Amino acid sequence: MVKPVKMNTDTDPGKSGQSKSPIQVFAIALGLIFFGELAIMRLLTFFPEMTPSSAALVDGILLACLFLPLWFFLSYRPMREKNKECNRERQEIKRQNVFLHTVLDALPFPFYVIDANDYRVKIINRAAGTNETGDLTCHALSHKSTTPCEGGEHPCPMVEVKKTGKPVVLEHLHYNRQGAQRVMEVHGYPIFDESGNIVQMIESSVDITQRKLAEDALRRSEANLQDFLDNANDLIQILGLNGQFLYVNRSWKMVLGYDETEIGNMGIHDILHKDSRKSSLGLFSSISRISQAVEHELLFVTKHGKTIVVEGSITTQMEEGKPVAVRGIFRDITKRKQLEEQFLEQKNFTEKILSYSAVPIFVLNKNHEVTNWNKACEKMTGIPAQKIVGTSDHWQAFYPSKRDCLADLVLDESYDSLPQFYEAFETSAFLEEGVSSEGWFENIGGKKRYVAFDAVPIYNRANELVAVIETLQDISERKKLEEALERLATTDALTGLCNRHRFNELLQQEVDRAKRYHTPLSLIMFDLDHFKKINDTYGHAVGDLVLQDVAKVIRKNVRASDWVGRWGGEEFLVLCPEATEEDVLVIAEKLRDTVEKHVFETVKTITVSCGVTRFKPHDSVDTFVSRADEGLYRAKDKGRNIVEII
Ligand code: GH3
Ligand code: MG
Ligand code: MG
Repeated sequence: MVKPVKMNTDTDPGKSGQSKSPIQVFAIALGLIFFGELAIMRLLTFFPEMTPSSAALVDGILLACLFLPLWFFLSYRPMREKNKECNRERQEIKRQNVFLHTVLDALPFPFYVIDANDYRVKIINRAAGTNETGDLTCHALSHKSTTPCEGGEHPCPMVEVKKTGKPVVLEHLHYNRQGAQRVMEVHGYPIFDESGNIVQMIESSVDITQRKLAEDALRRSEANLQDFLDNANDLIQILGLNGQFLYVNRSWKMVLGYDETEIGNMGIHDILHKDSRKSSLGLFSSISRISQAVEHELLFVTKHGKTIVVEGSITTQMEEGKPVAVRGIFRDITKRKQLEEQFLEQKNFTEKILSYSAVPIFVLNKNHEVTNWNKACEKMTGIPAQKIVGTSDHWQAFYPSKRDCLADLVLDESYDSLPQFYEAFETSAFLEEGVSSEGWFENIGGKKRYVAFDAVPIYNRANELVAVIETLQDISERKKLEEALERLATTDALTGLCNRHRFNELLQQEVDRAKRYHTPLSLIMFDLDHFKKINDTYGHAVGDLVLQDVAKVIRKNVRASDWVGRWGGEEFLVLCPEATEEDVLVIAEKLRDTVEKHVFETVKTITVSCGVTRFKPHDSVDTFVSRADEGLYRAKDKGRNIVEII
């Protein structure tokens, strides 16, 4: 219950009931004077010895006895009315007091009316939590102290009100009845008297201890969050809807080079690169309407004018369904971008090298699809890159029907299958892992070509085979020259038969084979009879023609597996692998007979003498040939045009 210590009693109805109106006083005074004078004059008439002052006294008494009832009669009714009114007013004031005290008691916070002189509590409500009233001061109530609080971090609100004469709102520490310290938000209000002096002060207070604790906790968590944001490697920024920066973290400041004071006056457009402005305008205006994160790549310009590429998400911060700010979290991807660009440049460069290389090149990926088919390859094969890239039809450029190319075999690491597809192959001259081969192709780009090709695997950093690059070299012309040289080196120019050098190689080869496999091997040596005469008779040119004709006749009449060579002059050798003595005798006889019967142009007939021998286990090429030579010698000796075997 509110304890009214002292109520304002300026309008006491009891006092107001005894007061007289000026008219009444004036009438009474007039009456008293008038009748008093009359009485004095009469008394002086009846009692001449009476002094005028005694007469006046008696006169007064008489007048009083006469006029008091009259006055009472005259003033009783209004006085009674007045009293009734005063009682009503008193009742009303009492009722208002009760109402006021009920209201004050209903307040959920402590409420005091405090004397401005001595800080004594005059009125206190239920929420103040005490029944103590009377002489108790506010500092005794709230601090168990005998003196008001002195300044410091939490100055006393009542002292402040008294000092300033103005309402104050201050945070102040109070102790509750259990002695626990509470943080109060104290509202102080001065009450002045008519002279403008502070006579009383109103104090109401709200316990904000929990709020302060919550604020502290929030501050701590915000500090933690701030710490977290500041230490994040990402660039974090919060923008107001007008694009001004509300917050940026440490990484942001470090990367963009602006300090806190500069950022206070800056907006997003101050750091956006001109190439990003247009796209980001739409982005920021749309993001301020939606709250979902948008992944985006932007260009920022640092304080020092350096352009950086950032990638990140932008989100709208909503409060009560309305956008209040735009948050952005970005990563500086400048280095990654530079590397990507370098990589692209490198790739572009490599592709150009590949593309414009004079050497035909194609590349297969691990799915056997063509990824590169350069211009030289287009030229050689007649197939445009457009038609072949992305397909596995590269075989069409080289073969009439589908089959693996060298690159396919290398890609599948099917090295064991190489002999099945290629007669000759070897480790690539370029790289150990590569394989090379060469050969005649019936139709590449509409031409028969001799192509040397290298297939080299390409591994990624994880050492996985990801592609194979195949280079092609059309070496048809070189091959033809080589073959011509080979022919020159091994062939007798006049007859087209093996020359002596080549025949020696063949002899060695066949001798070795016969030795290794113990297979028969026989040799015929023959010489034209009296050839000198031909030359002498018909001339050397005719002699040459005869030699050519003889070569043809012999060639025609030996087995495909037999080797025929010009040993020198008009001497020839026929090496017959797998031929026994009997076999070779038949062959030699057939040769002799065929030449004898052949009709030569100009010279008509000519004969040959043959020496024949079979290979014996301990023979060398020399002993083998010498025996045939010996046989020939004997045949000549025996009269020519015969076969002699040794
Ligand atoms: P024979 O062998 O029967 O004893 O008598 P021949 O006349 O054939 O005697 P010889 O072997 O001594 O003579 C070979 C001749 O062959 C000598 C040479 O002029 C001739 N001769 C050698 N090489 C060639 C050649 O390439 N062209 C021509 N036209 N003649 C050649
Ligand atoms: Mg001869
Ligand atoms: Mg001869």
